[in-house]
Amino acid sequence: MSDSREILLDIKDLEIAYQTDFEHVKAVNGISFSLKKGTTLGIVGETGAGKTTTALSILRLLPDRTARVAGGSILFDNKDLMQASENEMLRIRGKRISMIFQDPMTSLNPIVQVGDQILEALSLHNTENLSTAELGKRVDQALELVGIQKNRKKDFPHQFSGGMKQRVVIAIAMACEPELLIADEPTTALDVTIQAQVLGMMNELKVKLNTSMILITHDLGIVAQTCDDVCVMYAGEIVEIGTADHIFNTKDHHPYTTGLFGSIPNLKIDTPRLNPIAGLMPDPTNLPKGCKFSPRCPKCMDICKEKKPDYYSDGEHKIMCHLYTR
Ligand code: SF4
Repeated sequence: MSDSREILLDIKDLEIAYQTDFEHVKAVNGISFSLKKGTTLGIVGETGAGKTTTALSILRLLPDRTARVAGGSILFDNKDLMQASENEMLRIRGKRISMIFQDPMTSLNPIVQVGDQILEALSLHNTENLSTAELGKRVDQALELVGIQKNRKKDFPHQFSGGMKQRVVIAIAMACEPELLIADEPTTALDVTIQAQVLGMMNELKVKLNTSMILITHDLGIVAQTCDDVCVMYAGEIVEIGTADHIFNTKDHHPYTTGLFGSIPNLKIDTPRLNPIAGLMPDPTNLPKGCKFSPRCPKCMDICKEKKPDYYSDGEHKIMCHLYTR
């Protein structure tokens, strides 16, 4: 079923390179995707796939000295963020686009009370000229929104558990009611029961505030519970992209996606062991010719080692693989 919601973020042919001592290394190689208002896109892949680099480029937070956007465009609400001035980016970061990082302990300042850390975000973007008392009320509301009592605003991060710390990080990210929330592995540092709570809460907030979300994860199980669309990345490229509904119900997949499905623990079927993907992500300074997944692919053919595959589309989703385009 087609979704007529407006597009909030539109990334086209994005290329990002890092400068090493000897050469430019492409970390993201010509990716394109879009995100509709009020929806969640899951970006899935192993470490080194280019997920976080893509996310940081949206907020223009890549390190100036070593990373550069080598091509493409990032349109947010029809504005090209690559062309925005630094002042414009300061007004967008934290206000219109927020980001949650993996580890709450490195996101929070250990010597500042949590209420003041939320207040800082609100004060920086106080376009309504709210008084100190009104800002204080907003801090209380932000804490209550994530299920933390407002009387804990004077506590320091070390007085909270891991899950509660991540709730504080989410309160900071959502305090200004951003249109886009980028969550980079937001539950990886938490234990499994807390993961479910935090993901459930993020979903509730997203619906309540009509926020669009990019959820970066290596876990297809999390994507199944939370995302409308899925983009699978491997070695800086999108190898499969489509609606979550279709990807979780079709048999046609990129062999890498098939491998990710095989890595999901399943207690119902009679397989005592997980089926991991053999091998490792390739060295970005020495990528294989042709299909970058070919050294690990159980279905690799001769052509795969010579020619980069084009995308195949079944109308609902796209796969970059010679199995479908021969
Ligand atoms: Fe495997 Fe070839 Fe498809 Fe690459 S193009 S995923 S090597 S079958």
